[in-house]
Amino acid sequence: MTTSAMPLDGDTTARHIIGGEEGGSPSTAVMSPRNRHERVGLVAWGTAGEVDQAVAAATRAGAGWRQMGAMARGDTLYRAADAVAADADGLARLASWEMGKPVGEMRGEVARAVAILRYYAGDGARAVGEVIPAARADTLQYTRRVPVGVVGLITPWNFPAAIPVWKMAPALAYGNTVVWKPAEIASLAAYRLARLLGAVLGPGVLNLVLGEGPVVGAALSAHPGVAAVSFTGSTGAGQAVAAAALGHGAKFQLEMGGKNPALVLDDANLSGAVEAIVSGAMRSAGQKCTATSRVIALPGIRDRLVEALDARLAALTVGDPLDAGTYVGPLASERQMTHALDLLATGTPDGARLVRGGRRGGGSLRDGWYVQPTLFDHVSPSTPIAQEEIFGPAIAVLDATHLDEALAIANGVRYGLSASVFTRDLGAALSVVDRLDAGLVRVNEETAGVEYDAPFGGTKASSSHSREQGQAAREFYTDVRTIAIRPAP
Ligand code: NAD
Repeated sequence: MTTSAMPLDGDTTARHIIGGEEGGSPSTAVMSPRNRHERVGLVAWGTAGEVDQAVAAATRAGAGWRQMGAMARGDTLYRAADAVAADADGLARLASWEMGKPVGEMRGEVARAVAILRYYAGDGARAVGEVIPAARADTLQYTRRVPVGVVGLITPWNFPAAIPVWKMAPALAYGNTVVWKPAEIASLAAYRLARLLGAVLGPGVLNLVLGEGPVVGAALSAHPGVAAVSFTGSTGAGQAVAAAALGHGAKFQLEMGGKNPALVLDDANLSGAVEAIVSGAMRSAGQKCTATSRVIALPGIRDRLVEALDARLAALTVGDPLDAGTYVGPLASERQMTHALDLLATGTPDGARLVRGGRRGGGSLRDGWYVQPTLFDHVSPSTPIAQEEIFGPAIAVLDATHLDEALAIANGVRYGLSASVFTRDLGAALSVVDRLDAGLVRVNEETAGVEYDAPFGGTKASSSHSREQGQAAREFYTDVRTIAIRPAP
């Protein structure tokens, strides 16, 4: 059966792909977050032994992949992009069923993954170094970007196509081979994507090991044959990955959580701000690292803003992620739902006013992991709903009496991933973008919405302060070699 012919019938199975061979026995059932009784498929769980085999396979494939040359690798990535594009709808629907992202958003994400593959395919024809003057006139001194070797990729479930691809496309384009450990609850989509890519790339260039983070992810980060580890996920797991990578001298890169603010100044375009805030907070049911979770409003617009946000949330369609009309789907797992509901339950006792939601979805949604779109008002900056990553469809509105206070609140969290400001005043916007402590600052735009050709990453506990995507990815996936050549005397 070809990958594109895989039906969505609950019998999809996912295995490891190591050196082009599939292995493991799929025995762990994946249940859909839209209905906990609905089986999506079966997944094989790996161990450190499979990680060893995958690193060995990636090492063996490395020499051939490097020697192929950058332009030929680029051509291969163009063909890989075509393979993913040909299965875009099947991949989007499987991922949507498996982790609950509404299928319209998932289709957009797969299209982005295809665009990212094409973007890095183009790097096959870009310069890889520069000529630098040497002390002796007869010496040619230059730099050259060289691949780091075998790269380990550890990815989360919330962008099951785009995040893996924005790591593996540059890794492969620059001549590395890959071992990929996807998130447990995005294993079926990962397997489908890895099969599509592997058929084009050839055996061992991209290897997939499925399994649990503390087992497979930990073994991959600590493996001495892995030269670099790129991780996206929670801050706690990222710190464990960093410690393991440091332990054997591997390069590492971490992109982690966020608690992203939107500042709404008195002169903002109200309807534009509301649409952007709702999209930033509610798309993917708030499960984006860049989701808008705090709205900091100045007094001249605050009341109108809360009223308009409430009205817009009331009109959102919450429901089946496989229905194209759904705006808010379920959370990805029972664990995510419980985490979000537990945090939301602290809002009112901590003095906030619950304007809407705050509870699990009922009625026809009761068998899925749904949380009602939630709006809190008068949230105090020090409370858990203003400080902790909720990763659910929730907006906390905080009051600020003036811009300096709004900025202090915005920056007063341990994260620094993304931030927005809504204003018509260009001078205020220019001042605020300099004073917000975040890796991504957007004016009159939602906090989410990363562009793949621009550097992406955070500050503080959101990141290891390196950058992914765009040409910034080259820093991580290559080492700079300085070469000096002098003719023999
Ligand atoms: P998670 O940390 O639970 O898991 C992420 C990945 O790490 C998974 O593949 C998991 O199996 C693995 N893992 C877990 N423990 C590990 C360990 N001890 N050693 C090695 N690997 C381990 O995160 P998640 O729940 O999948 O994703 C949600 C989190 O990811 C949120 O905090 C979100 O903000 C963050 N995120 C960040 C970005 C970003 O670019 N900054 C993007 C998306 C998601």
